[in-house]
Amino acid sequence: MTDDAYDVVVLGAGPVGENVADYAVRGSGMTALLVERELVGGECSYYACMPSKALLRPLEVRAAATHLGGLPSEIPLDVPGLLARRDIWVSHYDDGGQVKWANGAGINVARGTAKLAGERRVLISGSDTGQPREVVARHAVVVATGSTPVIPPMFASLHPWTSRDATGVVEVPGSIAIVGGGVVAVEAARWLAAIGAEVTLLVRGDRLLERFEPFASEQVADGLRGIGIDVRLRATVGSAARLDAADTGLGRVHGGAVRLEVDGTPREFDEVLVATGRRPRTADIGLETIGLSPEDFARPEARPDWLYAVGDASGAPALTHWGKYEARIMGEAIAARAAGRPVTPPPPDVPVPQVVFTEPQVASTGLTEQDARSAGLEVETVDAPMTGAAGYGLLRDDASGKARLVFEAPTGRLVGATFVGQEVAELVHAATVAVVGRLTADQLWHAVPSYPTASEVWLRLLDAYRSR
Ligand SMILES: Cc1cc2nc3c(=O)[nH]c(=O)nc-3n(C[C@H](O)[C@H](O)[C@H](O)COP(=O)(O)OP(=O)(O)OC[C@H]3O[C@@H](n4cnc5c(N)ncnc54)[C@H](O)[C@@H]3O)c2cc1C
Repeated sequence: MTDDAYDVVVLGAGPVGENVADYAVRGSGMTALLVERELVGGECSYYACMPSKALLRPLEVRAAATHLGGLPSEIPLDVPGLLARRDIWVSHYDDGGQVKWANGAGINVARGTAKLAGERRVLISGSDTGQPREVVARHAVVVATGSTPVIPPMFASLHPWTSRDATGVVEVPGSIAIVGGGVVAVEAARWLAAIGAEVTLLVRGDRLLERFEPFASEQVADGLRGIGIDVRLRATVGSAARLDAADTGLGRVHGGAVRLEVDGTPREFDEVLVATGRRPRTADIGLETIGLSPEDFARPEARPDWLYAVGDASGAPALTHWGKYEARIMGEAIAARAAGRPVTPPPPDVPVPQVVFTEPQVASTGLTEQDARSAGLEVETVDAPMTGAAGYGLLRDDASGKARLVFEAPTGRLVGATFVGQEVAELVHAATVAVVGRLTADQLWHAVPSYPTASEVWLRLLDAYRSR
């Protein structure tokens, strides 16, 4: 055994890599090495979840306050103050705190780019010392390298903004085209419009947020239009060009005007944000040294038993909380296997919750009606306006929104829920608990929501179910 052998070697110290290492070493006596080539804490901490929500929360509070009788109807936005808040939440792009946490949790951290170098071997290059280093993993190599934005070839030479520039915005473009209609697009549109950019959302499909219930797509399109965003559905970008495209730095305008042909008409924007999805970052991690292609690697059954993938890199739902959940299970399973203990599998059908922090918020868990039907379930769906709950109306004078529960028809078991409206983010966990607990409408009838809270929308939904 050499000093450069660890029980577990994790490629990528994003939230998911951190968690798998943490749960593998907790109380097990095992050693773990986390290898990170950028910032410990990953995309989520510096370029994704944290900065986006740091920017969005003051906007939500301001919108609520300006729609409450008794408060001023105009509250000016302090843009430098908002960006400064973002900078605090990303720790000024300094990962010292996260490295300290990892070391405190008994995890070793190595700087550099990690690649597989054969069975159970990992090569780390580009480290502070400049010397490549090879480490051996006694029990597991975990790939937690995250994902990378997909940039369609048409935009590649334009140095377009990616989500990193949007969350790290420093220089506010006068106008910006956002290409895409998914979560990143609708969240970034919200804060970019608020800080002064004229935003045009170019969506190829016929609705925003295609994986959600159709009513969520409609209400978000209306909400974004209501705050001045030009939402264009079924939009075609025929060509894209830009003079003096250059990498001018994170969140700065990347060159001259961007010329896009939109639905056959030339348009000019100061910047373009490409938000057309992400793919697992597994192309350059040395899979060839163990005879695997990235396509093979995407299939768990094709991987050797010492090689694991988790988080965005695994192709699972690209959500921090989901990746961390799978990482907790994986870390404990690695420790259990190493100790020869049995591994308890997770329950089937664990619902994936998600909150989209846009205008208005969308919070969902489990199956949409369409997903459930596609999965072959017979379902019954009930809807209720969010304003059916007096407590919800009290939150804001302009409160609106809608909720839906999806039940399996023969059993009455809840299999999915969606809430759309202002401040609905905190409602969804109750639904997640109910889905995981396999609760039925009859059981939920006895879960009494407090008066007057937004949770009383559950009563309206269950009333609708009982009187159907
Ligand atoms: C704008 C935006 C907003 C988002 N908001 C939310 C949200 O509100 N809630 C939510 O749940 N999810 C959100 N997400 C998704 C979330 O960011 C990801 O699901 C999450 O970061 C995935 O974590 P991860 O650890 O798998 O990957 P990452 O966070 O991407 O971490 C992977 C790490 O691996 C490192 N790495 C890669 N290759 C190597 C290598 N070869 N060697 C060494 N290190 C390497 C990278 O530098 C990185 O630090 C958002 C995403 C975006 C883009």
